[in-house]
Amino acid sequence: MPAQQKAMCRACGYVGTKASMTRHLASCEKRQAAPGQPRDVFRLRVSGGGPFWLDIEAAADATLDDIDSFLRGIWLECCGHLSEFTIGPEPDWAGDAWEINPKPKKGKKAAPPRLADLLSVGQKFGYTYDMGSSTDLELTVQARGNAAGTEAVALLARNLPPVWKCSECGQPATQLNSWEYDEDTGMPLMYCDEHAEEADEDALLPVVNSPRMGVCGYEGGNLDEWPPVDSKG
Ligand SMILES: [Zn+2]
Ligand SMILES: [Zn+2]
Ligand SMILES: [Zn+2]
Repeated sequence: MPAQQKAMCRACGYVGTKASMTRHLASCEKRQAAPGQPRDVFRLRVSGGGPFWLDIEAAADATLDDIDSFLRGIWLECCGHLSEFTIGPEPDWAGDAWEINPKPKKGKKAAPPRLADLLSVGQKFGYTYDMGSSTDLELTVQARGNAAGTEAVALLARNLPPVWKCSECGQPATQLNSWEYDEDTGMPLMYCDEHAEEADEDALLPVVNSPRMGVCGYEGGNLDEWPPVDSKG
């Protein structure tokens, strides 16, 4: 595993590290030629730990619920767990952390706050999916500006799929054993198709490009064919 997994720009296929992707996205010509009207947007980096990271764009009038839905779709959803944002600095009236459930209870009349009311450039905030077997993400607001687009939240760049090795033979792994962990790396034991047949079937989960790989019953998201597995990082 390289020290830092590179990502691919969704608009043009550019591959780069975190720092170079930040510069690239500020000027990617294909992205600027995207369909839709120019609108006020935030650009955010989402860090899932290890090799997993995304750059996303969210309309300033979108809500945390929109970001929650996006993250569940691409990276997280296994069985409808609760999720929560933690955004600071907390207001005077709040406690240690200002926790916001993106799906307010039914009957609550107040309109949810817009991202424009919550976020500013340079801010970092947290997100947790599943309060039991948690997947914790960190989001950083990298920029605000005008960009064409039609979706409330859009993917700009995503880490290339890491290549994990079969613990038996070293070939690229396709499945993992969610019950057994490698003591050195803390990662689940992984297998190629052939060696997966020798493992306990009930313990197997697919190797996927997500920080929720191997957790609960996570089997993958809504965009697992992209970026292509064989892209050179
Ligand atoms: Zn690009
Ligand atoms: Zn689950
Ligand atoms: Zn193998």
